Amino acid sequence: MSGLTLQNVVKKFAEIQVIHGVDLDIDDGEFCVFVGPSGCGKSTLLRMIAGLEETTSGAISIGDRDVTNADPAERGVAMVFQTYALYPHMTVAENMGFGLKMNGHDKAEVKSKVSEASRILQLDDYLDRKPKALSGGQRQRVAIGRAIVRGPEVFLFDEPLSNLDAELRVEMRVEIARLHKEIGATMVYVTHDQVEAMTLADKIVVLRAGKIEQVGAPMHLYRDPDNKFVAGFIGSPA
Ligand code: ADP
Ligand code: MG
Repeated sequence: MSGLTLQNVVKKFAEIQVIHGVDLDIDDGEFCVFVGPSGCGKSTLLRMIAGLEETTSGAISIGDRDVTNADPAERGVAMVFQTYALYPHMTVAENMGFGLKMNGHDKAEVKSKVSEASRILQLDDYLDRKPKALSGGQRQRVAIGRAIVRGPEVFLFDEPLSNLDAELRVEMRVEIARLHKEIGATMVYVTHDQVEAMTLADKIVVLRAGKIEQVGAPMHLYRDPDNKFVAGFIGSPA
């Protein structure tokens, strides 16, 4: 069974086409990384998968469910953004549980999901703190925690570490790899950092102007890029 499938997916903003018929199969539990220059459509594709952006034509399925036109809340996806807008007046625990509470989950259930997420992210000692008393890395972990508590089948990350300094980026990269190992969910991760792409990915998708240029395992793209454009992103000469 496939984790996530895109079939001839097209996106137009008014008359301007930005995604030109993307076909992609991501296996259940696979860590898939999108790379490509600014403006090539990485965020748009993620937002279409999340249901935050309408799909102009083509189909998106998760497992065996066609979610092309499904409500975002019913897709089984959760997205982590580059800027993590935490509620300043709420504690870490409240920030992580807020979405579930709003969706009508009872107190005990919210508490158990938050405690599971905080164990995975090593935030147990910080549950009663307010965001301002956290480091940048801890805040980004809370943002990831908000996604975990929802128990999604697919996690979508849009350059989640680009606002962090170099040292923290490495620490969070290790954290995200551990999270993937532990949860085993399908993950789609956008980055412009080649090291992140090489170390995290099972599969790398190189995008260019709204089309897939090449797809493959990191070492495959590294050793055998189809062209100079791909080589430029994966860091070996063509
Ligand atoms: P990336 O994330 O790879 O940098 P985006 O997906 O943000 O690229 O953008 C892809 C293209 O779609 C760009 O040309 C961008 O200007 C355009 N675009 C994105 N969002 C909108 C929108 N809401 N309205 C019009 N054009 C958009
Ligand atoms: Mg983007």
